[in-house]
Amino acid sequence: MCGIVAYIGKQAAYPVILKGLKRLEYRGYDSSGIALFGETVNTFKKKGRVAELEAWDEEIISTATVGIGHTRWATHGEPSDANAHPHTSNSGRLTLVHNGIIENYGSLKQELVQKGYTFKSETDTEVLVNFIEDIQINNNSSLEEAMRIALKRVVGAYVIIVMEEGFPNRLIAARKGSPLVIGVGEGEHFLASDASPIIEYTKKVIYVNDYELAIISPDEIILKNLGNEPITPYIQQLDMELAQIEKGGFDHFMLKEIFDQPGSLTDCLRGRLDMENLTLTLAGVEEHMSVFSQAKRIIIVACGTSWHAGLVAEYMIETLCRIPVEVEYASEFRYRNPVVGEGDVLIAISQSGETADTLVAIEKAKEAGAFIFGVVNAVGSSIARLSHSGAYTHAGPEIGVASTKAFTAQLTVLAMMAIKIGREKKTITEAEYNRYLAELALIPEKVKAVLETHESIKEVAKHYADARDFLFLGRGYNFPVALEGALKLKEISYIHAEGYPAAEMKHGPIALVDENLPVLFIATKDAYYEKIVSNIQEIKARKGMVIAVISEGDTQIRGMADHVMVVPEVDELLAPLISVIPTQILSYYIGVLRGLDVDKPRNLAKSVTVE
Ligand code: GLU
Repeated sequence: MCGIVAYIGKQAAYPVILKGLKRLEYRGYDSSGIALFGETVNTFKKKGRVAELEAWDEEIISTATVGIGHTRWATHGEPSDANAHPHTSNSGRLTLVHNGIIENYGSLKQELVQKGYTFKSETDTEVLVNFIEDIQINNNSSLEEAMRIALKRVVGAYVIIVMEEGFPNRLIAARKGSPLVIGVGEGEHFLASDASPIIEYTKKVIYVNDYELAIISPDEIILKNLGNEPITPYIQQLDMELAQIEKGGFDHFMLKEIFDQPGSLTDCLRGRLDMENLTLTLAGVEEHMSVFSQAKRIIIVACGTSWHAGLVAEYMIETLCRIPVEVEYASEFRYRNPVVGEGDVLIAISQSGETADTLVAIEKAKEAGAFIFGVVNAVGSSIARLSHSGAYTHAGPEIGVASTKAFTAQLTVLAMMAIKIGREKKTITEAEYNRYLAELALIPEKVKAVLETHESIKEVAKHYADARDFLFLGRGYNFPVALEGALKLKEISYIHAEGYPAAEMKHGPIALVDENLPVLFIATKDAYYEKIVSNIQEIKARKGMVIAVISEGDTQIRGMADHVMVVPEVDELLAPLISVIPTQILSYYIGVLRGLDVDKPRNLAKSVTVE
């Protein structure tokens, strides 16, 4: 979390940094700040949104051509002006922005306090900047040398970018765990947590790796490891357009991204699903097919919405491939000494490819000998690089904090994997294989058909915008959709919502049902249809309000429910791709009706790079 932007070159740094921070606000929006090199370093920082920084002194912002900026998701210390970044060392010599957590900041702080250092903030970051300064003073060393020594003693995750008084033409950055991209221009360089602040200036980028230091001037980038050995920078071409990260006429990124789905799913299938030849190409799976077909079991690790995609994949892979699957929260998996080793395949799912807990889970499983397959959206991200193989979801940049199009693209990739491996293992017939391919090809059109009903979903939202609690229920493939629907509503509307397997409701949650509790059933036509009809009866018998996502032509549930949201029929394996769409739209409208900032829900941030 936290977004970092820096600029060094020939144009005014302030507008570049300000605009970049606005693009990165999805990563955190507790406070923000910018430091610029003028005669000396000037810093302006404020609690609240990046827009607060627009009130800075005209003269300072118009002249400086070097600067660093930060938008914060607080980990150490409340959101406040004092805790906002950049942070400056006691002597005023060093100014730094930081994304991550310094886990041993307590002991480092103690050492520094004993030496007489004082602190204006409660952050781990201010400890780090003074720790570097202290080493620099004691060893009489250059900043670069002091950073190398300091970072070897630091436990945790970081990207830092440091400015030093007296060196107005140089920034030094370092990373471990958190992401950093450098944009390479003509006589100018851009640094940022992801490529979105950079693409309008250059498409040439370098992804900095863990334990690397980048010494950057307008004309040069020197990369070194912490052992002071030079590294040749690998410059890549970005495959992303500016329009992809702008709202394109929609009120919110979330709505735009919901409506992007027919296109993002087409992109996800492009070059993979070939209906003329009835083939499915997934190079990352094909190249390692024997690993998958002989896998003793598959472990899926993920967090949040990606974890729900993992649950759907469990149903898909077990049904089609007959391989046992376990789905784990990455944060739990990494700490509980899991039984994992050779013969296991670990699938890591992450939109950003930077999710800290998932990264550590991967490292752990990799050390133990498991084969790692990454399903990520962000090209070149840490998880993509750490995995033995993988498949990109190609959903395009997702800016809204609540994930929508990344989820459906993850489901599509996971479905393709299951179909492909199932065919290889002959656990599905050729006829089934062909039918799944045909169903997949129709998904973007079916999603589009659901989007066309958004006005009627908005009407449903009006009835429930004041609800205090919500229950989401589903069975089989639609059970994870119930969890995802509840999560989305919580994130966007702050309404307390719980997702449950529909049958499980009788073991507790039914006690909550009364005339004020909306219960949303994901009840599309599948093998469990009759069972879910009974569950709806049970809720109605207790005067609960029922909203149902139903298949076209379903008159039975339509007759029982208070409100319905209708979706086209689809094979149950792919049902989540369609049935989740109305829940996304409903959450969006409920959030908007409650007057909330749906793109930046309170306390949340995208790309969770802290543990
Ligand atoms: N730990 C730093 C702070 O609290 C940075 C937080 C982050 O990157 O999320 O300010």
